[in-house]
Amino acid sequence: MTDSTFTLTEAERLPAAERDAILANPGFGDHFTDHMVSIIWTAADGWHDAQVLPYGPIAMDPASSVLHYGQEIFEGMKAYRRADDSIVIFRPEENARRLNESAVRLALPELPVELFVEATKRLVEIDSEWVPRGADQSLYLRPFMIADESFLGVRAAQRARFMVIASPAGPYFTGGVKPVSIWLSQDFARAGHGGTGAAKCGGNYAASLLPQNVAAENGCQQVLFTDAGNPDVIDELGGMNLFLVRADKTLLTPALNGNILPGITRKSLIQLAEDRGYAVEERAVTVTEWREGVADGSIVEAFACGTAAVITPIGQLKSPDFTIDFGDKAPGELTLSLREELTGIQYGTHEDRHGWLTEI
Ligand code: PMP
Repeated sequence: MTDSTFTLTEAERLPAAERDAILANPGFGDHFTDHMVSIIWTAADGWHDAQVLPYGPIAMDPASSVLHYGQEIFEGMKAYRRADDSIVIFRPEENARRLNESAVRLALPELPVELFVEATKRLVEIDSEWVPRGADQSLYLRPFMIADESFLGVRAAQRARFMVIASPAGPYFTGGVKPVSIWLSQDFARAGHGGTGAAKCGGNYAASLLPQNVAAENGCQQVLFTDAGNPDVIDELGGMNLFLVRADKTLLTPALNGNILPGITRKSLIQLAEDRGYAVEERAVTVTEWREGVADGSIVEAFACGTAAVITPIGQLKSPDFTIDFGDKAPGELTLSLREELTGIQYGTHEDRHGWLTEI
């Protein structure tokens, strides 16, 4: 059974002046809107008790299974305010489908795509004043699902909770669209064959934090993970997919081999690049190929992509043994123009020719 009737409890809203002060400088992930969505699932009754509630702490039994075995999945997506004041969400059905793929891998229940989309739309609608108006700003939406059966046996929980919270966001990297340095993690892997690399589950991110610290100690903003069995084969960054650009109008990106997250930005950029006549090769990409390609001039740009940071040019790949350097030159031409096109679609200055936007 799935009952998608939402009940609404109005929150006491943050005074407009305080909210506007936050929106003037939202940072990333620091502040939360007035409401949140909660939907309960039980094996016996399916999804039910859909609610829009005041944002706030949730009570949990200390035996709740998510606290012990990490049975948790999440999504990340954004709502954008356009010049005409309308608000859109970018490809929410794609996030809904990916959440369900993660759910299958983590033995959590799937959520109907329409219910996912309705939940996110309702939150954005009621908290619409939290969608910022500034350049490069948006409302970041964080749908997530936790197992919350009070039971210490190791098995799939019979009770789960889906929630959506929202956080106003400025640019992810505070330095603007400047090339970032990436640390090549060859001591720690993020995912192995048959593991959870393709799922968006909390455990993958817990495993990425130590290598992320190592990256920071080495002056890098992000980590590049490689294949657990072959450290020359590139997987992805801690929170972004990777593309290399060849001078012959070809884009290279690691294939969706089960170890990497199928990014929605990745999928959208492949479409936009192909629309421009670029060839896109989705296959195994190696560090050696990157090094040699930069040395002989056949690889001219590298960028990372994801919802939070959109497209970020990569200036350097560092490892203990070598550095691949694009020099101090400005972000690559294609990197910047794809970024401009994708953000243009999101903010309404470019035509949404693929029907990627859902209006609130
Ligand atoms: N890889 C990882 C590990 C991520 O966490 C993310 C962010 N969700 C991405 C790639 C990019 O995915 P998307 O474009 O859907 O945000």
